[in-house]
Amino acid sequence: MDVLLRENEMTNYQKVLVAVDLSSESEVVLKKAQLVVAPNADLHLVYVQEPMDNVYVGIVPQSAAFSGLGDLEAQLSEELKQKLLALGEKFSVPKAHLHILNGSPAHEIHRFAKENDVELIVIGTHGQKGLQLLLGSTANAVLHGAGCDVLSVRVGAKK
Ligand code: AMP
Repeated sequence: MDVLLRENEMTNYQKVLVAVDLSSESEVVLKKAQLVVAPNADLHLVYVQEPMDNVYVGIVPQSAAFSGLGDLEAQLSEELKQKLLALGEKFSVPKAHLHILNGSPAHEIHRFAKENDVELIVIGTHGQKGLQLLLGSTANAVLHGAGCDVLSVRVGAKK
C-alpha cells in the first residue's frame, strides 16, 4: 500500500529536469526518469557546459595556453549539441526540451529549475565515499540548495 502510494506520488510530477552529462550514464538516468514519472510529464534534458578557463584555471598558467580556447569551446559546443540531439531523439524528447546552459552545473541546474517551475530534478550519483565525498559531486551540490524534489539515480562507479 505504502509503495503504491509512493508510485502515485511520483507520477504527479509534471515538469521534470533530467541533468545529463552526456556520458553513457545519461541513458541510465534518463531511462529511470521515464520509468518513474507519468508518461505525459514534460521531461527537460539539461546539459551544462563549463567555460574552459573555469576548468583549467589554476591547473595551467593563464597565458598562451588560453589563446584559441574560444574556437575549441565553440567546436566542443557543437559536438555536445549533436550528442544532446541524438540522446533526445533516442528517448523521444522534443527538441524544445533540450537545453545547453553555460556555467557551473549545480548553479545552472538550480537556476533553470527555479525559472521554469520544475517539480523534480533527476540526477545521476556515484555514491561517492572517502575523498570523493569530501570533494563533493554534482549530485551533492544540486541536492543542497534545490528548491524542489531531487531524485538521485545510482549509476556505475566512475573509472
Ligand atoms: P558527477 O558528480 O559529475 O560524476 O555527475 C553525476 C551526475 O551529475 C551525472 O550523472 C549528471 O546527472 C549530472 N551532471 C554532471 N555533470 C553535468 C553537467 N555538466 N551538466 C548536467 N548534468 C551534469
